[in-house]
Amino acid sequence: MSNSTPSLTCDALLHDAGEHIGGDSPRLDAELLLSHVTGLSRTTFRAWPEREVPPEQAQAFQALVSERARGLPVAYLLGEQEFWSLPLRVSPSTLIPRPDTECLVEAVLSLPLPERARVLDLGTGTGAIALALASEKPGWRILASDRIPEAVALARENSQRLQLPITVIQSHWFDEIPEGSFDLLVSNPPYVPASDHHLREGDVRFEPASALVAGDDGLDDIRLLVTEGGSRLSPGGWMLLEHGYDQAEAVRNLFAEAGWHSIDSLKDYGGNDRMTLARTALSHEPERPVHAE
Ligand code: GLN
Repeated sequence: MSNSTPSLTCDALLHDAGEHIGGDSPRLDAELLLSHVTGLSRTTFRAWPEREVPPEQAQAFQALVSERARGLPVAYLLGEQEFWSLPLRVSPSTLIPRPDTECLVEAVLSLPLPERARVLDLGTGTGAIALALASEKPGWRILASDRIPEAVALARENSQRLQLPITVIQSHWFDEIPEGSFDLLVSNPPYVPASDHHLREGDVRFEPASALVAGDDGLDDIRLLVTEGGSRLSPGGWMLLEHGYDQAEAVRNLFAEAGWHSIDSLKDYGGNDRMTLARTALSHEPERPVHAE
């Protein structure tokens, strides 16, 4: 450490960073990055703005600020994102878990599923959905899959760090899923149309296309899940899919064409129809009148 390097206060560093970062929440972003580098809480920056930051930490912070100013998502810079109050490791090989996907978890928890439900989370990424469910339902047997090896490793790492037992396997959708009947299939699949302008804006630019893009209408993967999912479920089993805010009707139609029952769309925190739920027939037997002799 050199004596000639002037020490910098939290307040001065945050002020400069805020100017540099831009975007919707420059101050918050700067506080999160400074907290990450110094180990100090964001409350400390308010209570003690004159606190000095050692030069090497200030430098590390400024390097992160430059990355953020270039557009890199805060979650990738921190290597972490909270989901369902679980601190999840994230990496550029997977989508950053979104708050709206917590609505999917809530919807699953409100379903009448057995005590020891068998659940499959397809395209798990960080493991967010599977781990949130494991944290709420210790009796469930939860399998999670992803096509991308780095995502499989990340979901396993998150499972171990959080001590939430799930099984993670590498599989392109149903390709490597062992035979057997699940009570629930859940997925936040890629659903953005290839031409969507959002892909060229904000944090999304730095997230992998493999987790976002699904053909010209954004429905390629959902079509596959709806077509092939039924045979993986027990009678009366459920499937719940996240989709784009404007895709609910199209997804309900896909379920209906494939013969699913009890099809219903549900809203996210922003009031958009963000997910659709459907159920397989209660019995594989043809339906009979209740009072038949
Ligand atoms: N909701 C995400 C977005 O708009 C997309 C997530 C996904 O494709 N699964 O950025």
